[in-house]
Amino acid sequence: MNATVILGMLCVHLMCFCVMFLLISVRLKGGKMGTDVFAAGHLLLGLAYFLQLLGGAPEWGVASVVNHTLTFCAPVVYVLGAIRFFDRHVPVWGPLLTVAGLYTGAQVLVQMALGTEARHALLACACAVLFLGMVVTLLYSARTFARDLRVEMMLFAVLIGGICVLNAAKFVMILTGGLQALDMSSPFQMAFYLYMSFLGTVLPPAVVWLVLSRLVDQLRILAVNDPLTGLLNRRGLTEGLARHFRSRMAASAHLLIVDIDHFKQINDTHGHQMGDAVLARVAEALKSTVRQGDLACRFGGEEFVVLALNTDHSGAVHLAERMREAVASSQMPGGKPHELIRCTVTIGVSMGFASAAALDEALQQADAALYHGKTSGRNRVEWAPAWG
Ligand code: GH3
Ligand code: MG
Ligand code: MG
Repeated sequence: MNATVILGMLCVHLMCFCVMFLLISVRLKGGKMGTDVFAAGHLLLGLAYFLQLLGGAPEWGVASVVNHTLTFCAPVVYVLGAIRFFDRHVPVWGPLLTVAGLYTGAQVLVQMALGTEARHALLACACAVLFLGMVVTLLYSARTFARDLRVEMMLFAVLIGGICVLNAAKFVMILTGGLQALDMSSPFQMAFYLYMSFLGTVLPPAVVWLVLSRLVDQLRILAVNDPLTGLLNRRGLTEGLARHFRSRMAASAHLLIVDIDHFKQINDTHGHQMGDAVLARVAEALKSTVRQGDLACRFGGEEFVVLALNTDHSGAVHLAERMREAVASSQMPGGKPHELIRCTVTIGVSMGFASAAALDEALQQADAALYHGKTSGRNRVEWAPAWG
């Protein structure tokens, strides 16, 4: 087996993974997480190596120039795909065409001024610098915006570091030994394409793993959150409470039911859509009032549940009072000019409880207190022992 056979297998690998990324991106529809861009990167690199297979000797010609441009552009496209994976929208085709044009121009200039050797040295050097930049960015990402993927980013950095070193070595070999360094039967080219083949086999499944874990995270968030307000849903609340009581340090919890007063009237006056906006605004007021660690949930309709954890009865009542005030003092623009929508809430507070199994009982206590608050005039806080 020589480097040409490995190159052929690498082409097949790249094209297969190109199709795989394309199929995944079609399924993902909205948030493609860069998979369509990764497909394009694989296509470019696959085409580059295919041209190299057809072209044979590294002569000056259109095929060789296109091959070099594709070889340089493919990692650029991978970088753009990675940026998209991290939810930052970046244009692909504009930058790609610019890089392709600039690199083709640079090749022609170098070829005219310094000859074929220098053009090959340029590719090896440019790739080494590009991969070095990718390694530095990956190491930076592992410490900053991709801390949750630290292991994966470090692994990518090591793997790409390898191809950076090989390109740097190729650059030095071309400078010192000329085009001999590109002889496909040489041990260096064998090692080079074996390593590329290894990367071509390992990196795409690693990227698919990242996409899958991101999807699973999104599903997990969807399963425990209310899409309109971003608060927890019932399932998120019960899971959070169970988690709290699993801790040996957990103190008692109090449950607060928060119900918007005369919400039906808000819907009737301003429309259902504006009603939804009011729900989101109330949720914001609750979110900004709860303490860190407390659980806030949209329990259904215009009813919210807050679990005040690790607090005593007066702490829970104070929290409820702050919430009531926060909602009463917030206002939002209505549909008509100069129109402001205000609303109030009534809050029922349960007695303290110390196990997840007591949730239903706490709900009943808080609900009864809430009912008492509604019948006593609304926009108020009532707590279980006070009326019972
Ligand atoms: P009270 O002060 O007694 O709580 O009166 P209320 O009008 O708030 O209570 P009621 O239970 O009679 O009405 C609740 C209304 O909430 C009825 C329903 O149309 C509305 N609602 C429930 N879910 C949603 C929602 O997701 N969006 C909007 N816009 N309205 C909702
Ligand atoms: Mg209501
Ligand atoms: Mg209600």
